[in-house]
Amino acid sequence: MMTVVNLQKVLGTDAADITLINKNEYHYESTWLHEAAAGTLLSDQVRYDIKDVIDSVKTKFVQATVEAIDVAGKKVTTDNGVFTYDYLVIALGFEGETFGIPGLDKYALSIANVKAARYIREHIEFQFANWSTDSVKDDSRLTIVVGGAGFTGIEFLGELANRVPELCKEFDVPREKVRIVCVEAAPMVLPGFDPELVSYAVGKLESKGIEFSIGTPVVEATPEGVNIKKGEDHFEFIKAGTVVWAAGIRGNRLIEESGIENMRARVKVDKDLTVPGSDNVFVIGDCALMINEETNRPYPPTAQIAMQQGEATAKNIAELIKDGETTEFVPDLKGTVCSLGDDDAIGVVFGKKVTGKRASFMKKMIDNRALYMVGGPSLVMKKGKFNVLK
Ligand code: NAD
Repeated sequence: MMTVVNLQKVLGTDAADITLINKNEYHYESTWLHEAAAGTLLSDQVRYDIKDVIDSVKTKFVQATVEAIDVAGKKVTTDNGVFTYDYLVIALGFEGETFGIPGLDKYALSIANVKAARYIREHIEFQFANWSTDSVKDDSRLTIVVGGAGFTGIEFLGELANRVPELCKEFDVPREKVRIVCVEAAPMVLPGFDPELVSYAVGKLESKGIEFSIGTPVVEATPEGVNIKKGEDHFEFIKAGTVVWAAGIRGNRLIEESGIENMRARVKVDKDLTVPGSDNVFVIGDCALMINEETNRPYPPTAQIAMQQGEATAKNIAELIKDGETTEFVPDLKGTVCSLGDDDAIGVVFGKKVTGKRASFMKKMIDNRALYMVGGPSLVMKKGKFNVLK
């Protein structure tokens, strides 16, 4: 979306034919999906119609699912026709990573897209509704396991912590019957993040009844729950009516099928975000892998970087069309804010630590800015977050 709206800005009307292919008629804010999954935000609020934000004179929108990318043949095959191109931007987003752990694909739910998020919300409500009508009550119906304490896991837990008391009231369930357990493989929550902020987050979530099992990888999922490894030969089974897997992401599998060299469906792109050896195929967002030379580690696949990549790619394509040179993409990292529900958050912004309502306010501003960058003030008015004083 960022590439298209910026191409519309930087290219004259007749300079190029822009085609945007997307499998849904809507775009969703993937960074808001955890709210739809917890039920603290309606799933319709995290998405908007693509046609409402693009300029239909400059861009042709095609609703189609991409089935194959042929870089050598310069064509993209979809379920709605084959498209040839001079320049291609691959921005196909993420898929959940299950690391081959048995049972996860089948029995765990993943906050993967709008439909999956809506399903998780309804699944949890279904468990609560059933528990209240069951004559013989199985309290494990009310146990929710969240696999992974990265940013997705923690943001989802923050929403759940606020939502569960509402669910208990709605479905006549005593709060003490509900267990929410976060299982993390690493020895800490939010591995690598500022320890003081992590301790703030864990304290706040624990005070709302979230349990943490740290240093205990999930090794198997079954229809009844998950098996976690607690020691060399020590395993524990957590019986749970809901298992949500939030333990990592990978790029889109179409990348692997395309034959482009990749690592877990992510392409190690050149400095101008093109595929190595090609000057007309760009890969951006969660499917792109870029090394931060200061740390010698990959940049994390974040919305902040993805949006900047979209803007940079539009400028580079405009240059190439004029026979100009591409420019190296350098991310401008402003910080990270992790919400803990809609009334609390932690973060590091411009090098300063923030917590509580101030951090929460910043998070909502970040979310509104993302809408503004694509759809201007009218999209912010329609889908923005205005409960900023909460
Ligand atoms: P992640 O990879 O950042 O975190 C996954 C977590 O799961 C890790 O802590 C890992 O140790 C754990 N894990 C892995 N295998 C496990 C196992 N078998 N059992 C238990 N735990 C296991 O993934 P994510 O949280 O989905 O985030 C993906 C990317 O999106 C990251 O780059 C993140 O920074 C970004 N993100 C950012 C924000 C934000 O800025 N607010 C929000 C969400 C995601």
